[in-house]
Amino acid sequence: MTDTAIIYGDQRIPYLVNVDDNRTTRVAIHVEPDGKVIVDAPPGFSPVDIQKAVQKRARWIVSHVEDAQARFAHVRPREYVSGEQVLYLGCRYVLKVLPTAAKPRAVRLKGNRLEVETRVGAAEDVRSKVRAWYRVKARDYFAKRLAEASQRLPWVNEMPPFRLLEMNKQWGSCSADGQVILNPHLVKAPRECIEYVVLHELSHLKHHDHGPEFWQLLDVHSSHWRRSKQTLDRMVETLMME
Ligand SMILES: [Zn+2]
Repeated sequence: MTDTAIIYGDQRIPYLVNVDDNRTTRVAIHVEPDGKVIVDAPPGFSPVDIQKAVQKRARWIVSHVEDAQARFAHVRPREYVSGEQVLYLGCRYVLKVLPTAAKPRAVRLKGNRLEVETRVGAAEDVRSKVRAWYRVKARDYFAKRLAEASQRLPWVNEMPPFRLLEMNKQWGSCSADGQVILNPHLVKAPRECIEYVVLHELSHLKHHDHGPEFWQLLDVHSSHWRRSKQTLDRMVETLMME
């Protein structure tokens, strides 16, 4: 097994190569029900050839992986045990639960793992630690993106106040008095999706409804917001699930 992956936007999608003696000309790519990507390659193909062939179909793969994971997520609710996948800024990490007799250390990302030390060892304890970690990360990351966008967008005089609120169906909102609310689950999404939501909410400072002028404003300030919105829509159930 080799550790190979394609990069698509913010995402890194690993795949497994299976040399298939019956194949002669091209690779075949499958996305398993749990989102694993398997590439069947003819015996003579070099890793570079395979990488090229896979990279060419990156867009297709990403959308199928996301669909598969969204479906799979329903089948298997989170248990907060080692080996589960967690998402952060569009990247996948593996949850590692570390029982400890000492004072548990703060949750941290280490390589491709999210390490959670726990004295209690109960899923509920791990869950609340992961949730708290997401909130801290969300607050930091959203504040940076809001500050950056506020500087860039001509109608925003200063960064608006914002707070986090877990919502089931919405990524954010902007009140008439200019307070921005963002859903902490959004910090699991790819960066470009967060950028879209921030732009969306800040655009409400200029246009309060979703009329044609509102969407035109988005077009002026982002060339890819539609793609980002689509990605978010596809991932909504996976991202909002705890
Ligand atoms: Zn809106």
